[in-house]
Amino acid sequence: MKELHLLLKRFFGYTSFRPQQAEIIQRILQKKDTLVLMPTGGGKSICYQLPAIYMSGITLVVSPLIALMKDQVEELVANGIPATMLNSMMPEEERQQVKQLCIQGKIKLLYISPEGIMSELHWLLPRIDISLIAIDEAHCISQWGHDFRPEYTQLSILKKHYPKVPIVALTATADKVTRSDIINQLNLQNPKIFISSFDRPNLSLTIRHGLNKKEKIRTIIHFIHKHPRQSGIIYCISRNNSESLAEELTDYGIQAVAYHAGLSPQKREKAQDDFINDRVHVVCATVAFGMGIDKSNVRWVIHYNMPGSIENYYQEIGRAGRDGIKSNTLLFYSVGDLIQHRRFAEESGQKEINLQKIDRMRRYCEADICRRRILLSYFGEEIDHDCGNCDVCKNPPKRFDGSILVQKALSGIYRTHQQVNMQLLIDILRGSAKAELTEKGYHLLKTYGVGRDLSYKEWKEYLYQMLQLGYIEIDYLSSGHLNVTPLGNKILYGEQQAFLAVYQEAKESEFSTKKEGFKYRPIRPLQSYSIDETLLDSLRQLRKQIAEKEQTPAYIIFSDDALADMVLKKPVTLDEFSDIRGVGQLKLDKYGKVFVALIRFVLHLPKLEN
Ligand code: ADP
Ligand code: ZN
Repeated sequence: MKELHLLLKRFFGYTSFRPQQAEIIQRILQKKDTLVLMPTGGGKSICYQLPAIYMSGITLVVSPLIALMKDQVEELVANGIPATMLNSMMPEEERQQVKQLCIQGKIKLLYISPEGIMSELHWLLPRIDISLIAIDEAHCISQWGHDFRPEYTQLSILKKHYPKVPIVALTATADKVTRSDIINQLNLQNPKIFISSFDRPNLSLTIRHGLNKKEKIRTIIHFIHKHPRQSGIIYCISRNNSESLAEELTDYGIQAVAYHAGLSPQKREKAQDDFINDRVHVVCATVAFGMGIDKSNVRWVIHYNMPGSIENYYQEIGRAGRDGIKSNTLLFYSVGDLIQHRRFAEESGQKEINLQKIDRMRRYCEADICRRRILLSYFGEEIDHDCGNCDVCKNPPKRFDGSILVQKALSGIYRTHQQVNMQLLIDILRGSAKAELTEKGYHLLKTYGVGRDLSYKEWKEYLYQMLQLGYIEIDYLSSGHLNVTPLGNKILYGEQQAFLAVYQEAKESEFSTKKEGFKYRPIRPLQSYSIDETLLDSLRQLRKQIAEKEQTPAYIIFSDDALADMVLKKPVTLDEFSDIRGVGQLKLDKYGKVFVALIRFVLHLPKLEN
């Protein structure tokens, strides 16, 4: 065990294992088959990379995407671990070189595609000493999973050819069916299954509903200005959406690119590459973006529209904060999104299932209990406490008896024969002078103007609450008209009271937009930065320069987490620097001096003697 800890520090720069990592590693070292279920960013890679270093011979890592392989190999090599990959996109000459290195025993980890396994089964593989086989993204083997890859099903052959070599299968998504599919198809022998919590406590969860386009954009711009130079993804419902949003943000001086399946492969690749290498910080994307992106320092994810299912939502927000540092997520939810999603569902082959998924998603958005509890229970996990890192926890609702307010709205709906949508209803209640109202004679209704005491925003909020409480529902087939439910009738006739949560202007939070603060401030001049901010900024710049020189993404040099640890501990000697999280032996040797020199410079300390 002590030896494993030494290797962990030497090659990865970490001083302790995350939950379950040590047990998984020990199990693998006993040459036993293992299945690992851990959320994205949970730390799966080390579970097979450390045994790979420890054992004699080569570890084969089967991985579905070249981009993923490339990233992992670069990261390993940056830590001084001999790793390489074999894939069909490489020129033949290079493939030959890689094979020679493997045969000579100079490689510890060989990343290979499932097709690669098949084509090398009779030539390369018998010539090398295989110590361990790791199957990454193992859910790809299952037709039930969402990323089924037929090539993965051929992997069953591995156990036949190498009955004595342990197999570890790893995935971030696997329900029970997929789980047993993985075990059966790979023919794992008495596998032990490790299931980690799917909780991602470093992700804050916020939902804002009922904002119009202008308000949404204002919120986004405000947030980005408060967090300059942080990488983030904005998920949009359609290709057009993603393009127009990127244009709009660009108009406001924010560098943003669009990404969707309708772009040419070159454009997509460029967008992705610019994002990974921090040349562009914001991507406005459709769901097409993200698979195969291993960028660990995505600091925020915004859903410009509500996603179609909780699975999609969790996967997409999961792309933030893989390095474990505090990251923000925000979702805008509106009735318009619901209507659009329902339309998609009607047209899809699986209407019923999709409608159910949308409904679960909607209920999540409208809930007023700890959001993380809802998410985790959706994935079959219970937690016994509120998370303290979602908008509901941070801003718990205060209740009041809103029966009269609800009655006003409900009677407004009845008097228009349930023929109005939310906006029109609010206009009636507030006694608006719009032509549409007078044309339809709504200004003559008894409910006209009875809700003048509340602002438009307040009414909108309360109507959303009424939806959530089941007093009203939306008729999706007739452009979003509101209908009163049987439960609503009970409130209307005074048989039951309605308790609503007091409307509060969004408090000062990561995503609030105080009107007066909403001027486009230039990024603050250096003088007014605190010492920590200056230091972080300088460290980032140094990291970027090194990354450019070495032609690798900045997070491969040091993760955001490592930089944060440097800011916290302010190491001013090489010895102190070696204690930083993520600083292993090779990185200490390679970068220690320049980083320590920079930190000393920022802290106004004299240069170190050599
Ligand atoms: P996964 O493959 O499960 O999505 P990774 O293996 O890429 O996750 O790990 C996510 C991040 O966590 C990486 O930046 C990795 O270096 C870091 N990490 C993994 N194990 C540890 C550990 N024991 N201590 C600190 N950081 C760790
Ligand atoms: Zn919470």
